[in-house]
Amino acid sequence: MTRPFTLQQRLRTVILVPAVAGALALGGLAIVQFGDGSPLIGILAAAAAAVLVTLGFLGASRTTQDVQAALEDTIARGRAIETGVAPSPSPAANMEDLRPLNAVLEDIHEQHRVVRAQSEAIAAGALDSPILDTPTPGPFGPAIRGSIDGLRSTTDQLRDAEAVKASIMDHVSDAIVVVDANDEIVASNAVAKVALDLFGGSMDDAIPGWKDLTIGEHDFSRTLTDGSLTLTQVSTSRMMTSSGAVTMLCWRDVSGERAVQAQVAHVARTDIVTGLPNRQGVLAAHDRLHDLSRSASVIHIDLADFSQINQRHGFKEGDRVLQTISKRLTEVIRTSDTVARVSGDEFILLLESQGDNVDGLARRILDRIAEPIELENGATISLAAHAGWSTGEVDGEYELLRRANYALAEAKDDPDSVSSYSAEVAQRDENRREWEQQLRRAIANDEFVLYAQPIVDIFERRVLGVEVFLRWQHPSGRLISPGDFIAIAEESELIVDIDRWVIAKTIEQAAASDPSIVFSLNVSTRFMASPLMTKFVTTTLATHGVPAGRIQIDVTETNVAADVRGVIESIRSLNEVGIKVALDDFGTGYSSLAHLLKLAVSTIKIDRRMVSMVNEPEGRGVVAAILAFAKKRKLTVVAEGVESEEEVAALADLGCRFQQGYYHGHPADLVEMLDSLDSIPFQTLDEGADDDEDDADGAAAATAAAAASGPASASVAEQPGTPATASA
Ligand code: C2E
Ligand code: CA
Repeated sequence: MTRPFTLQQRLRTVILVPAVAGALALGGLAIVQFGDGSPLIGILAAAAAAVLVTLGFLGASRTTQDVQAALEDTIARGRAIETGVAPSPSPAANMEDLRPLNAVLEDIHEQHRVVRAQSEAIAAGALDSPILDTPTPGPFGPAIRGSIDGLRSTTDQLRDAEAVKASIMDHVSDAIVVVDANDEIVASNAVAKVALDLFGGSMDDAIPGWKDLTIGEHDFSRTLTDGSLTLTQVSTSRMMTSSGAVTMLCWRDVSGERAVQAQVAHVARTDIVTGLPNRQGVLAAHDRLHDLSRSASVIHIDLADFSQINQRHGFKEGDRVLQTISKRLTEVIRTSDTVARVSGDEFILLLESQGDNVDGLARRILDRIAEPIELENGATISLAAHAGWSTGEVDGEYELLRRANYALAEAKDDPDSVSSYSAEVAQRDENRREWEQQLRRAIANDEFVLYAQPIVDIFERRVLGVEVFLRWQHPSGRLISPGDFIAIAEESELIVDIDRWVIAKTIEQAAASDPSIVFSLNVSTRFMASPLMTKFVTTTLATHGVPAGRIQIDVTETNVAADVRGVIESIRSLNEVGIKVALDDFGTGYSSLAHLLKLAVSTIKIDRRMVSMVNEPEGRGVVAAILAFAKKRKLTVVAEGVESEEEVAALADLGCRFQQGYYHGHPADLVEMLDSLDSIPFQTLDEGADDDEDDADGAAAATAAAAASGPASASVAEQPGTPATASA
């Protein structure tokens, strides 16, 4: 039966284990401390300390002298191991008692040997030495082992990285050479070796003047023995290494690359049809003159009706005509000047001069252009053109080009077909730009308001809907009519913002008003031909929960003429979502009928000029013909600009029941007008259209009643003091 530990024994166990460990740790510290001097002393000191502590705790069985002797013996043995001199035996020592201590010392000795061999192997860089595979003994074994493994793995990684770097160096297409402070090559890649071999291994021959190159990129060209010219690009950089500063030179032949770049740039700046510079080309030429701070003249030429040539004679003939024109233009200028084709039928001449008679030259050019051109198909044609020109200093903003372009627009209204950017033109241009700026601000500051005019059914004496007109509430207090600013807005993208505003505001109002009112809108040519328009209208309708049938869009002849295809497409998509379209100002253009047949409109609005002639036989005949045609095609007809009782009567007599004009109501603020319409029973334009089957007799009878009782919707017509137009 085992005896339970006494308290003293337990205490000894508890204290002994950490004490030995602590002593070993101290020894370890000593190894680290004296590592480069005498690690053995450290180990021995540790061992001695361990012995002391151990013996101390072993307690009563050992005398102080025993311990003293044992300690001395231990130290003497340690010295012997260090010095190789055998110790004289200690008479006081009881050798039996020292046996376990000897074993400890042997063990420590072995640990020391292995660790020393391993440190030596590491110091010698012999990471593949078998000693490093020997398990490191002792309490620090795992830590030392970890360090050895870590060192081996780091060395492997470095070795790999070195190999990858060497491989990259050899695979880049640039030659790379690293030279030291004495201009000696300390490293180079495979390409550099080949490149240097071509020059007998001499850097001076491979890269003449390389020692004087500054840090950065340098190009140098040279003629080779076969006479060909090469272009070399050298880039130099400097860096610090442990053995001092080195310079790295990378170089390559860029002759081919540069040739391709130049070719690409040339193609990008050249018009394929004529071989002349294109818009990019003329801009580049302009930039060159600007860099040289020169003055210049610009003539901008626009061929009139050129598209007709393509249409009548085909694109091939069209291209040939352009080539002939470009040849003629090239003949009238000097080689230092630039002639460019900047769009299908527009040319720009950039003349590096100030004193020339540019106006005379512009006229001569138009004469040259007008000379007959014989086509391959035997036909002979003659082209008209317009020219606008400007002259002055070449700035960085292409102002000369812009001015010539502005003058060209003026030339189109000039009987001479030539216009310069004169003081007068400049003033107009300045005004236009000022307007444009103000319009921009007006959009940002929400300076627009909507006016509206009622559209009435004179037979039923009801208001069917309203046509919405835009007004600009200028900060000066003036109310400006669209006629004064729409054209300017149309020259820029501003118009689309305005159109969006009108559409959104109108739909917002429609949502808040009686659901039977139809709102007619005017949209610019630009937006009318855009596929985005229908999308914008439908999304806005959806946002406000307004049915598509409550909006109608007026298109004008000018809208259609500007982009027939775009407008046809817009009308189709509007119809598809249930939005009706009216052809505005009908009867004014000779092509009205032609357009009407192409367009899927549901309403025709007879123009005010036609209406004002309705009491003359000719005018009456035209209106009657329009009404008959519309009836046949089931189109609604609205007479616009009805100003007098006589006109109302004459129109009614012809059966034109839907009317709009000052007689029935001046345009007034939309919100106020809608408020005053609240009490009136409405019907939509479409319901009116269904009644179109009414015969003329019925119409005449209703007219008499309407004319006798005055304006159909008196409450609207009597809107107080509303200006017809802002300028009023
Ligand atoms: P429009 O569509 O032909 O509009 C009819 C023009 O005649 C309106 O001028 C209207 O105020 C005026 N008017 C109405 N009744 C009579 C009348 O009995 N006699 C006379 N002499 N004139 C009458 P307004 O408002 O100055 O608009 C002029 C043009 O500006 C419009 O011609 C339209 O093409 C355009 N416009 C109007 N509002 C907008 C708009 O919101 N957006 C766009 N893009 N254009 C608009
Ligand atoms: Ca209109």
